[in-house]
Amino acid sequence: MTTILILLGPPACGKGTQARLLAESHGLVQIATGDLLRGAVARGTEIGKKAKGFMDSGQLVPDEVVIGVFADALAEQIEQGAKGFIFDGFPRTVAQADALAGRLPDLDLAVSAAIDFQIDREEQIRRAIGRRICAQCQATYHVDNNPPKVDGVCDACGGALEQRVDDQEERVRARLEEYDQKTAPLLDYYRERGLLQAVDVNRSIDAIAADLASRVEALS
Ligand code: AMP
Repeated sequence: MTTILILLGPPACGKGTQARLLAESHGLVQIATGDLLRGAVARGTEIGKKAKGFMDSGQLVPDEVVIGVFADALAEQIEQGAKGFIFDGFPRTVAQADALAGRLPDLDLAVSAAIDFQIDREEQIRRAIGRRICAQCQATYHVDNNPPKVDGVCDACGGALEQRVDDQEERVRARLEEYDQKTAPLLDYYRERGLLQAVDVNRSIDAIAADLASRVEALS
């Protein structure tokens, strides 16, 4: 059966880092709506123009915009022969989860598990504020937990590291509020469907990666 993992958790809890590691180690395709939307903003597309203000202020982008972006990316990856998926940052509202539940059966797919990245609030804010992203290849670092070899320079490609506008403290707090109000209800949504698995992410990147890998292996 095709593996489909949904990663749930507040901003900067490590979903993207773990999605990339799991994708590489287990041949899964990561679909990250945040990355797709940032790409659209950078290219100045119509979708990017609609999304930018919401993203910069730490609010969720409206469902109809994100559902379209996600559905296009999923269709493209299926066409390219993807054998399994990690949905990183989608769904983030009950309306998005319902749209997904309506779409997957037509593609002969089903959600395998929704992983709840459980993190202490103060640690989560510390991770967000210290996060740095390569402007060139999008690799992610943290000033204390996962620093680059040379300050401000990406290990992978030599690009400049930057702080995301929405990783500034007051925007992180706005994103957390959005998470509590609109995304946290998905924990019950997937729990009721028997799909929720909680993972303690107040641990090292390697420890979390090993835990997730064994869960994915148990699913297939
Ligand atoms: P992320 O990179 O996952 O932290 O997402 C960055 C921003 O993109 C979020 O704060 C939202 O503004 C927007 N975004 C990403 N995914 C979604 C989604 N599924 N629904 C609504 N907005 C989203």
